[in-house]
Amino acid sequence: MSAERLDGAGVAKIIRAEVAPQVAQFQSTRGRKPGLHILLVGDDPASQIYVRNKERAGAEAGLIVSVHRLTADVTLDDVLAAVRRLNADPACDGILVQAPLPRAIGKDGTAQVFDAIDPRKDVDGFHPHNVGLLVQGRAALKPCTPSGVIELLDRTGHAIAGTHAVVIGRSEIVGKPMALLLLQRDATVTICHSKTPDLKATCRGADILVAAIGRPGFVTPDFVKPGAVVVDVGINRVDTRETAVSLFGADHPRIADFDKRGSLVVGDVHPSVETVAGAMTPVPGGVGPLTIAMLLKNTLAAAKARG
Ligand code: NAD
Repeated sequence: MSAERLDGAGVAKIIRAEVAPQVAQFQSTRGRKPGLHILLVGDDPASQIYVRNKERAGAEAGLIVSVHRLTADVTLDDVLAAVRRLNADPACDGILVQAPLPRAIGKDGTAQVFDAIDPRKDVDGFHPHNVGLLVQGRAALKPCTPSGVIELLDRTGHAIAGTHAVVIGRSEIVGKPMALLLLQRDATVTICHSKTPDLKATCRGADILVAAIGRPGFVTPDFVKPGAVVVDVGINRVDTRETAVSLFGADHPRIADFDKRGSLVVGDVHPSVETVAGAMTPVPGGVGPLTIAMLLKNTLAAAKARG
């Protein structure tokens, strides 16, 4: 059996095509374009790529996307000042601080930066105010990755209500909000993490299994109930050929990609899961593009709400 491929890139394209005319409508009634402002601190190579993709998708949808670059050696006060400037800027509807911030800013500093964002402009949905609303099931700005997963399930006809959904990972940006959104859609939800005993058995109970771990190919077929819907949130760079071959097998076309580029982006779900799952998201081309589409949707919603 080979699982149905859940085409996140295709669904994201449809969502972006829905956003674009609404952006044009906003512009014609309000006399300005919605503005997304991205704060990029330091020179993390993956962040540069993520920001470039967000910039491109935003511009295609007709948003104004401004990237504010700060060098890696800035102080926490500098970053906070940049956030406050954007809070006060009337042309700014959405603020995205690209994570991770430089190591020197630290965990507490990072939390201070995210807490400083005006909740009405918090298009990532990470501010405690928006998280509180999310817990109560009345958030306007929901975290982009998990809300993208819900859109994907809805638009590919996979029912959520009444299912047992298992989420592996309990991060603030993916695992926890994912579990909440599935719960709000009447799934029975189990959250698993690094201390969960007998993880495989728990996962084998899932009708919907969401992997948000950050470990290449971690979820193998023995985690998966036959026919389950498997959503792979992981984005992991593999840069040893041996690991790439252990995931795909030596003759797979992705090994030729590896040989060309010297690395591969892979998910948390082992490719062989497609022999057991009923449906599965690819990496790349699954959840990643949806995250960006939902960011555009959130920016439009934030702009409309601000007037
Ligand atoms: P994180 O490191 O904050 O959290 C990882 C979670 O996995 C933790 O809660 C941890 O308990 C759990 N975990 C770690 N090892 C485990 C184990 N052995 N068994 C069970 N659970 C284990 O990561 P995150 O920010 O939630 O991101 C997870 C993955 O999703 C990463 O690969 C990241 O790059 C990717 N990601 C993708 C998108 C997207 O747009 N597709 C967005 C955000 C994150």
